[in-house]
Amino acid sequence: PFRALQNHMASECAFCKIVQGELPAHKVFEDAQTLAFLDLNPITPGHVLVIPKEHHEWLLDLPIQIQGPLLETVQRVARAILKATNAQGFNVGMNNGRVAGQIVFHAHFHIIPRYAGDRLTHWPGHSGDERSLKDLCEKIAAAMEKR
Ligand code: AMP
Ligand code: ZN
Repeated sequence: PFRALQNHMASECAFCKIVQGELPAHKVFEDAQTLAFLDLNPITPGHVLVIPKEHHEWLLDLPIQIQGPLLETVQRVARAILKATNAQGFNVGMNNGRVAGQIVFHAHFHIIPRYAGDRLTHWPGHSGDERSLKDLCEKIAAAMEKR
C-alpha cells in the first residue's frame, strides 16, 4: 500500500501539488495523463517541463503505458514553442538521479528552446579509445534485461 500511494502521489512533491492545483504554475498544456508548464528558472525563454500526472520518481519508474503519451506531449509542446517563439531548435533533457543534477524527484522532461546566438554550450565529449568502447559495449549489452 505504501508503494502504491507513493507512486500515485507524494504529498510533499511540488509537481504533484501543481497537478492537484495546490501550487500555481504557468500551464501550457494538459491532458488525461500529462501536464506541461513553464520552468520557473528558464534556461532560455520558453523553457517548459513536461510531466506525467502520476507521481513517479524518475525515468526508470515510468510505466510503459505512460511513456508514449508523455513523449507525444513533449513533441506537441515543442512544436508549439517553435511556433510561438523564434526558437529554431530545442534540446530535450532529463536529469535522473542526484548525481545527474535531479532536484525534483517527480520525473520530468525539460524542453529547452534554442535560439541563434543563445550562447549555451554543448556537453563536453572526450574521444574514446577503442579498447574501453568495446569493453563497455560488451558489459552494457550483457546487462540488458529481458522485457
Ligand atoms: P531538475 O530536477 O534538475 O530537472 O530540476 C528541477 C527543475 O524544476 C528546475 O529547472 C526548476 O527551475 C524547476 N522547478 C522547480 N520547482 C518548480 C515549480 N514550482 N514550477 C516550475 N518549475 C519548477
Ligand atoms: Zn510528484
